Amino acid sequence: MSDRSTIFALSSGRPPAAIAIVRVCGPQARVTLEELIGRVPPPRQAALAKVRDPKSGEVIDEALALWFPAPHSETGEDMAEFQVHGGHAVVAAVLEALGGIAGCRLAEPGEFTRRAFENGRLDLTEVEGLADLIAAETPVQRLQAYRQLKGLIGDRAEAWRRQIVEALALVEARIDFADEADVPEDLVGPALFAAQQLRSMIAAALADQGRGERLRDGMVVAIAGPPNAGKSTLLNRLARREAAIVSPYPGTTRDVIEVHLNLDSYPVTLLDTAGIRESDDPVEQEGVRRATERAAVADLVLWVIDGSATGIVASGERKKAFESESWLIVNKADLASDKVWKSCESLSSSWSKTFALSALTSEGVDALVGALAVHAGNYFAGAESALVTRARHRQALTQTLAALDRALAQGVGGSEELIAEELRSAATALGRLTGRVDVEDVLDVIFRDFCIGK
Ligand code: GDP
Repeated sequence: MSDRSTIFALSSGRPPAAIAIVRVCGPQARVTLEELIGRVPPPRQAALAKVRDPKSGEVIDEALALWFPAPHSETGEDMAEFQVHGGHAVVAAVLEALGGIAGCRLAEPGEFTRRAFENGRLDLTEVEGLADLIAAETPVQRLQAYRQLKGLIGDRAEAWRRQIVEALALVEARIDFADEADVPEDLVGPALFAAQQLRSMIAAALADQGRGERLRDGMVVAIAGPPNAGKSTLLNRLARREAAIVSPYPGTTRDVIEVHLNLDSYPVTLLDTAGIRESDDPVEQEGVRRATERAAVADLVLWVIDGSATGIVASGERKKAFESESWLIVNKADLASDKVWKSCESLSSSWSKTFALSALTSEGVDALVGALAVHAGNYFAGAESALVTRARHRQALTQTLAALDRALAQGVGGSEELIAEELRSAATALGRLTGRVDVEDVLDVIFRDFCIGK
């Protein structure tokens, strides 16, 4: 056990708000209730109470207080919860009062969850599921995160690990008691049979073409094309569709604008690469380089051209940088002439799909959105049931598979010591997945992404 001080934090969103939830976890949790409200409510029952500053006795607020004694709490330790009014001054006064109690300090980001993990309330994959649930922007992401929080991969990995340990026990019995008459000759055969079955199951989980990771990351669609073709207008048009928008915010460089869309409940990130242009300014060049890089790895490129321009054929040339599937968007349909449409048709053969639309008037935009939704549906097909949602999981399962393969390669007549060693490393790789063994290095990375109060 690391540091067992009592930690506290504002666990609800930023004030001002109607209600603010301040949580306390650790050995002094009971004392904080006694000090702030003068009593300890019955376990897991909300009590209405006056919250007072323990030093001055002054009333800070009237609040609901809750008491969750160990081990039946989220973290497995004693916990107290104060539901006060969510004003800046109220929250500040409560936090200050708590900070004045001996042994209490403000929690680090993710520290509540870290304690839940250390106390065995959550395994590492469940911790990741919790982080994903908090970050989820669309219904399918939420569903995937919730399943992981409830142990979809963690429980499976733990069951596999136990089966490997059982197989290992057979091989070790064979090694340790080889000379004794009552130990059956063939213990290695059944152990390898079990390993073979596990191998198929793990291989099946890995053969998902990265669908689970895709759903976590979202489908990235880059909007690219020559200047003034109407890329930004199109992005705004797509983003302004009321139900679609999640959180528009400018990218970290001024050269890429990102808009997160919820398209038929699938997560789609639109990138406006309007800033991709030649430049002599080194800072801008760096931005351009990054913008080009992001667009180059996009899952889909919408190449927008100005349909009213006469140079349409030339500007329809697909940019070489984009390897991904690309759709041609002939914009400014409101201005285009019949002649332009003819040349468009001649272009369409070199693109996966062609759309004629007006970003300005919205004409034809629905057809594009519909096609994007279908594309997203295919892109994410089967993702909801995928077991693996992170590179870390994939790595652990790949290592498990490799170790099982090496054990199987020995065969029944092979070295029992080597088989045992490989089974042991297979079990270790799965243990690392759930955080049972040897994970200090990954812990910091995982908990760093949490907010304070979680
Ligand atoms: P970008 O440089 O590709 O991002 O292009 P913008 O979105 O900034 O658009 C360039 C100009 O074209 C602006 O003046 C837009 O109002 C105009 N524009 C964009 N889409 C359309 C359209 O569908 N029809 C017409 N008539 N003008 C458009």
